[in-house]
Amino acid sequence: MSGVWVFAETRDGKIIKVVNEMLNASKDIGAKLGEDVSAVLLGSGVEALAGDLAAMGAKKVLLADDANLEKYTPDAYTKVLADLVKQHEPSVLLFGNSAVGKDLAPSVAARLGVGLCSDCTGVEVDGENRLVFTRPVYAGKAVTTVVCNEKPQMATIRPNVLPPGELEAGASADVEKVAVELGEADLRTVVREILKLAGDKVELTEADVIVSGGRGMKGPENYGMLEEMAEVLGAAVGASRAAVDAGWRDHHDQVGQTGKVVNPSLYIACGISGAIQHLAGMKTAKVIVAINKDPDAPIFKVADYGIVGDLFKVVPIMTEELKKILAE
Ligand SMILES: Cc1cc2nc3c(=O)[nH]c(=O)nc-3n(C[C@H](O)[C@H](O)[C@H](O)COP(=O)(O)OP(=O)(O)OC[C@H]3O[C@@H](n4cnc5c(N)ncnc54)[C@H](O)[C@@H]3O)c2cc1C
Repeated sequence: MSGVWVFAETRDGKIIKVVNEMLNASKDIGAKLGEDVSAVLLGSGVEALAGDLAAMGAKKVLLADDANLEKYTPDAYTKVLADLVKQHEPSVLLFGNSAVGKDLAPSVAARLGVGLCSDCTGVEVDGENRLVFTRPVYAGKAVTTVVCNEKPQMATIRPNVLPPGELEAGASADVEKVAVELGEADLRTVVREILKLAGDKVELTEADVIVSGGRGMKGPENYGMLEEMAEVLGAAVGASRAAVDAGWRDHHDQVGQTGKVVNPSLYIACGISGAIQHLAGMKTAKVIVAINKDPDAPIFKVADYGIVGDLFKVVPIMTEELKKILAE
């Protein structure tokens, strides 16, 4: 078995960010294993994206282009991917830990009868050429290292954790078009339409900066000030479960154990106490800023910068200062 494969997930006709992060890590993995790095691209009319994958470091692109693959469905994608793996026998298969990756990877692993390390935050190659994955457990309180002995060694990788690679302009990859054979049983689900919640909102799990609000925001009408700060910073807006349960924010915005796990460069928590279940979703952020009127709020234990004060006074001042700094 040979080959390091990365599933090239697309969204809105573009390769998602974590694919670049995985391909960049795969260059090192491939060099250590002495194996080529390939991207596996499924979709309809997506051949033009092969160039982007080459720029990210893929030496080869396996392209399954078929009208039935235009929108993701678990049955069809699992069938195509599992068949490809059986045919080519790669030794590694990586997915982003996105909504699609979290759905597809276990399904492919089950079809192949191999293990899967999910939501990994690190990967190394050991002395026996096995991948050693790092993954947080117990809501981020402990970290385990996991080795899957079966091949392909499969994992989903948390977005924003591994460093992305510089894009190599003009790079090219061998594109191998693969035959797609889907029967009735593989086409049980038809996705007719994907409705978007809001125009060009930055996806939380991919955001580099997140401004998040909790119960301290007091009501949905006050999130406008977080939206304004987010706009200045090019950030996404998140929320605690308390805010979501109160109906102030959509469930898509929830950060935490039962929400999304995020790993931005900067996380600004406004009126969030820092319950363990919230920390499970954001404590690996590179820099955490907390604004809370209670000096004993647990969020300050994980914060790099803490502002003890009334967020309704602090946030507008911060936003104005950020506007000035970023305009310079
Ligand atoms: C199984 C399970 C799963 C869970 N999953 C999640 C999850 O995924 N995500 C999540 O977030 N929670 C989750 N929770 C809930 C979690 O335990 C907390 O209840 C929740 O995170 C609290 O949200 P909060 O910090 O916004 O509210 P609170 O704990 O009520 O904190 C509000 C904070 O705002 C501050 N504040 C109030 N007014 C102001 C002001 N004017 N200026 C500045 N600060 C102010 C207060 O001092 C306080 O610290 C889960 C719980 C369970 C049991």
